Amino acid sequence: MTPANPPHWSLAVHGGAGTMARAGMGEAQRAEHKAALGSALDAGATILSAGGSALDAVEAAVRVLEDDSRFNAGRGAVFTYHGTNELDAAIMDGRTRAAGAATGLTRVRNPITLARAIMEQGPHVFLSGGGAEEFARERLIETVDPAWFATPERWRQLEELKARGDGWFDAGLKYGTVGAVAVDAGGHVAAATSTGGLTAKRWGRIGDSPLIGAGTYADDRACAVSATGTGEVFIRVGAAHEIGARMRLLGESAQAAADAVIAEVGTLGGHGGVIVAAPGASPAFAFNTPGMYRGRADSAGLCEVRIFDGATD
Ligand code: ASP
Repeated sequence: MTPANPPHWSLAVHGGAGTMARAGMGEAQRAEHKAALGSALDAGATILSAGGSALDAVEAAVRVLEDDSRFNAGRGAVFTYHGTNELDAAIMDGRTRAAGAATGLTRVRNPITLARAIMEQGPHVFLSGGGAEEFARERLIETVDPAWFATPERWRQLEELKARGDGWFDAGLKYGTVGAVAVDAGGHVAAATSTGGLTAKRWGRIGDSPLIGAGTYADDRACAVSATGTGEVFIRVGAAHEIGARMRLLGESAQAAADAVIAEVGTLGGHGGVIVAAPGASPAFAFNTPGMYRGRADSAGLCEVRIFDGATD
């Protein structure tokens, strides 16, 4: 149903979905995460309310979360099995369906900005590793010493996982991938996602986040989507593209399409969630985990940040 006064811009952010428990998270920790999500929303909303583009807004929002060590993107990324941080990101412009993505970065401070440069300044969509970093240096994109990304808490999580020895990856779903989706006053949509991937990933593993159509997608004819969760399953479902396709071809609302695709992810054994922004409505969320760090704002005055699967917190 279309609201009586549809918002002319809207924005949503996420900071990962997982098994965060109300009881296991203290007041201070909740407040810190909510404040960080609020800062990301502010960064994007300031751009959108001044008539800026959805693309600028999603990049700005994701950069805030990449620089915040609480989230698994940029500084604070999880460690690979071999003790490095390898970052992935993707961005997409719904106006033209131009897209840019990068994987296996070890030195680019803000992977989302590199993804945007790949989209706007190069002939390709997806670059990896040393080549992507060569492209970054040529475009004067900020690089840092790899130590910039490392935090003691992520190291502890790697050691804990290795000591448990009960699986290849982070079975506890200590996720924290970040993403943003927006609609601007011109009705254009954009999506951005950035991640360190999964704790103890190896063999050059790449998840859904930087894969256009899996973890990130934007199309003005439907919506913008950023996903977080069990990357392998989001890839197999083509989750982000599937949500847009359902809206475009079946006429489903953003919420209905997101719910259906997350249900499908669940049937294949996947966990996680999505944020979806579509013209003329407030952003939608869907997730099948106990919580998802998330926030949304729009020109009609909506402004909220939530963590758990409930209306108030
Ligand atoms: N989807 C990400 C990946 O598989 C992880 C996450 O969302 O936390 O790399």
